[in-house]
Amino acid sequence: MKKDDGNKVYIFDTTLRDGEQCPGATMNLHEKLEVARQLARLQVDIIEAGFPIASPGDFEAVKLISETVDGPTVCALARIKEKDIECAGRALAPARSKRIHTFSSGSDIHLESMMRMTRDENIRQSVAAVTFARGFTDDIEYSAQDTTRSDRVYLAELYTAVAEAGATTLNIPDTVGYAIPGEYGELIAYLVESVKVPGVIFSVHCHNDLGLAVANSLAAVQAGARQIECTVNGIGERAGNCSLEEAVMAMKTRADSLKVWTGINTAEIMRSSRLVSRMTGLTVQRNKAIVGANAFAHESGIHQDGMLKNPMNYEIMRPEDVGVAGTDLVLGKHSGRHALKKHIEKLGFALEADELQALYNRFKELCDKKKVVYDDDLIAIMQEQARDVPRVYTLDYMHVSAGTGSVPTATVRLKKDDKVFQDASTGDGPVDATLKVIDRITGIEGKLEDFSLQAVTKGEDAVGEVSVRVNYQGDVVSAKGSSTDIVEAAAKAYLNALNRFLFRSERNRQMAEEAVPEGQP
Ligand code: MN
Repeated sequence: MKKDDGNKVYIFDTTLRDGEQCPGATMNLHEKLEVARQLARLQVDIIEAGFPIASPGDFEAVKLISETVDGPTVCALARIKEKDIECAGRALAPARSKRIHTFSSGSDIHLESMMRMTRDENIRQSVAAVTFARGFTDDIEYSAQDTTRSDRVYLAELYTAVAEAGATTLNIPDTVGYAIPGEYGELIAYLVESVKVPGVIFSVHCHNDLGLAVANSLAAVQAGARQIECTVNGIGERAGNCSLEEAVMAMKTRADSLKVWTGINTAEIMRSSRLVSRMTGLTVQRNKAIVGANAFAHESGIHQDGMLKNPMNYEIMRPEDVGVAGTDLVLGKHSGRHALKKHIEKLGFALEADELQALYNRFKELCDKKKVVYDDDLIAIMQEQARDVPRVYTLDYMHVSAGTGSVPTATVRLKKDDKVFQDASTGDGPVDATLKVIDRITGIEGKLEDFSLQAVTKGEDAVGEVSVRVNYQGDVVSAKGSSTDIVEAAAKAYLNALNRFLFRSERNRQMAEEAVPEGQP
């Protein structure tokens, strides 16, 4: 690994903490671990794995990632309260390299109405928290929320005090997404200049409410910040966080001007994007920079002609730099289980024997329906089956008849504990009819809030992936399903959502969940 020469920008990924907070993006333990493993392949420097005091699920995720993931530093969030920090310390205990991220607030409005303390009290308690956290690790990050609406002279005093107490990373969040680049850059420059504690790293955490999270982060880097907090696909509360792939590729593509570098293995960007999209159910918009389906598609005739003569005529980045190196034809009808296993391992998945067998069966079915099987087809199959969610209901059989002038009718057979249930219904369309039958059989009515269909790979026989958001009396669940038949994909997605909902309500009953603490950076 290249040595930090002062121009390295550390990439702090908070997909699993801040990203996961957005409605419908909740991931289960297994899904979080899968994302963390991919973040390690992407070579992020720090993974913020969760907020352990917030819920037993968060605690478990931080602990499991600490035990399992090798490479990045694992970080956990804690308010400036001893019980939070102690809980974070316990969850992080197994990690080879660990960081505690403790936070307070910087603005008067937060201090007065939310934290109910004076500026001086805030400094005292923040210093005490950092000192206490040093008992668990030497790597301490401190954030004051809402810095972009704070008095900067007070901020300098607050950050100097915590740095002298042992905070090694000072994070300056734009919690509310209010900053604009020039002004935010000035704030960072002012703090870099005013906090005279050697060796500390200045960090930024930007929200995208005005679409400026990446621009603000880069302005901060130009002003001396050396850590960017970001999420894959820019997911997060409201308009989301700074997008990892956009910030990283801007620094790589425009290293001539920005004169900084990151340790990211950019060839893993596309795979990370797809994984996070599948795990969270949050689809990436087609024209999204770097990872959108059209990000590298050149349509106009003049551009195409120019591209053929020399790609650099219109391409500032090469698709292969971000891992869009064309979908490889990998396996076919005659590939055996061993070849499949080897290939899956290369894609970064470790499967148990029974999981491999299930995948192999689906793979063989797919080979009958479709000429070529791409990596993305396999990944779609695997990720559809969230492995630690018990599949209460499974689809056994379905038949849909629909046509111009006829009433769409669906017959569906579901399995539950070796029992088989069958029913039929008409509907406004084939999908509507199918989902109605499922509601009738299970007796649980879901309200479909969002439905989208995407082709996973190219060609007429492509696997279609349906993403749904289903509302069960206020509890919103996202899920996906895939098949070469789109109505079947819809049925699977809807059943996956139902299985997740059943799993979650069961788990919630078992865990007396503590309320999630107020405001986070
Ligand atoms: Mn945030």
